Amino acid sequence: MEEGCIFCKIAAGAVPCFKIYEDDLMVSFLDIGPVVLGHTLVIPKKHYRNVLDVPAEVISSISGRLPMLARAVISVVQAPACHVLLNSGVEAMQSVHHLHYHIIPRKYGDGFGVPWPAGQLDAGTGRQMAAEITAAMHQSH
Ligand code: 5GP
Ligand code: ZN
Repeated sequence: MEEGCIFCKIAAGAVPCFKIYEDDLMVSFLDIGPVVLGHTLVIPKKHYRNVLDVPAEVISSISGRLPMLARAVISVVQAPACHVLLNSGVEAMQSVHHLHYHIIPRKYGDGFGVPWPAGQLDAGTGRQMAAEITAAMHQSH
């Protein structure tokens, strides 16, 4: 348990939440500040900061529950679609520094929008970026 971490407290049952699922590894509950009705969070019980900090086997167990959770959430609010987001770092809009997936149900006209100013990847940059990222992966393993 990380000192002062609100999600550690929720995982330990020390702070209440509207829980939808729990097992030995994880808890899922409604977001207290939903961007749309049904906005749900999924967290490991153990404290990891985000995707940059979590062991592969932990995140793979947690993400294995996402299809079940997302299907249940969107069916209740009668949405045909959803985002599954994992903000990692303050620059990426992470405000609670305990790993969490957001499940955000989506339907046309729901008033929620994610800005996505798509650019254009040119072949030279694409080749170089792909090579650098592949090399970085080999260095860190
Ligand atoms: P982030 O910006 O870190 O990706 O998202 C953190 C989310 O946690 C926000 O959507 C916020 O509304 C939610 N949140 C923060 N504190 C609490 C809390 O005490 N209880 C619940 N249920 N959600 C919380
Ligand atoms: Zn925590």
